[in-house]
Amino acid sequence: MPNLDKYITEGYIKQDEKELFELILYHRQQYQNTKNRQGGLHPDDIEIMKILDQGNQLLITILEDRKNTVIAKQKPMLTNCPQCDIEKERKPIWEEKNEHDYICNKYKCDECNIEYLDDTPNNAKDQLIWLESILAVFEKHKDTLSKDPEQVENIIQLKKQREKFIKACEAEEEALKNLQQAEQQRDKAIAGWRDYLLTAKIKQQWGNPPAGIN
Ligand SMILES: [Zn+2]
Repeated sequence: MPNLDKYITEGYIKQDEKELFELILYHRQQYQNTKNRQGGLHPDDIEIMKILDQGNQLLITILEDRKNTVIAKQKPMLTNCPQCDIEKERKPIWEEKNEHDYICNKYKCDECNIEYLDDTPNNAKDQLIWLESILAVFEKHKDTLSKDPEQVENIIQLKKQREKFIKACEAEEEALKNLQQAEQQRDKAIAGWRDYLLTAKIKQQWGNPPAGIN
């Protein structure tokens, strides 16, 4: 049976999932004890043991998926340390809102041993708001800027970029919605499994409740 300890230590497991894992272990052990005592198992029990293994495998897949999603968000980015000005690829250690309310990545510089927030938004939604604010400044000074061909070209490029950000924003929202839906469905399935195995455990330990109490 694969071990879930690393997911527990790294915090990728929810309470319901942890309980389900413990219940799977418990029931598997019960069948194992029966098998040792009787020298074999009823085909139905062998089938249940297989289902328990599948449940365990499903849990591992869920935890790996979740871990990979988090790791993907931590991919190294080229960033400048505000203190030593050394530019290099660093892995985000956290994300936080900056003074403009944009969610940005937080990095740690090993050279100066400080943590700093990179002011570029790390998501399409905030990047779009950021770009809109730059375009608003251009719009305000349109009369003066339109006389400068270089600035006119800049505005054209920024407007093109805005179209890209709008598309990225839609894709990001869709991905987030799908992720939340998938998590909700998983939570429901996990809770169902846990309740079922918990009831089975209680019945094993205490027997069936007297008639009328159920
Ligand atoms: Zn530094």
